[in-house]
Amino acid sequence: MDNQELLDKMREEDDEWHKEIDKRVEQARRNYKGPHCCLTMDRGLVSDAHVLHYSAKYREYGIIIPKSTGCMLMDYCMFCGKKLPISVRDEWFEILEKEYGLESPCEEDKKKVPKEFLTDEWWQQRGL
Ligand SMILES: [Zn+2]
Repeated sequence: MDNQELLDKMREEDDEWHKEIDKRVEQARRNYKGPHCCLTMDRGLVSDAHVLHYSAKYREYGIIIPKSTGCMLMDYCMFCGKKLPISVRDEWFEILEKEYGLESPCEEDKKKVPKEFLTDEWWQQRGL
């Protein structure tokens, strides 16, 4: 086998390998069951944590604005286009005030906020 043949063979194997990877990625995408809208978002929230933001307690997806503390909320997933769930931020404050009498759950009453309100547990349980 001369060099050219060897190169061709390597390219072919490379192609096969890429096809195999694509197939597996495609399968993983199709089999993705949540908790987010798609696998790309799921992975992105971990690998691009400085860009993408998900707040479990408020159920909000956003893009972090560089050099600021701000975050631009997303209504639709920028990867798969699905509509993202509605934010439950207002309900978070409302329920804490009405049911627990906490008027400033982000400041003075912060320590009194029940544990389930720090994660997605509270809205999952209430079926929001
Ligand atoms: Zn998505």
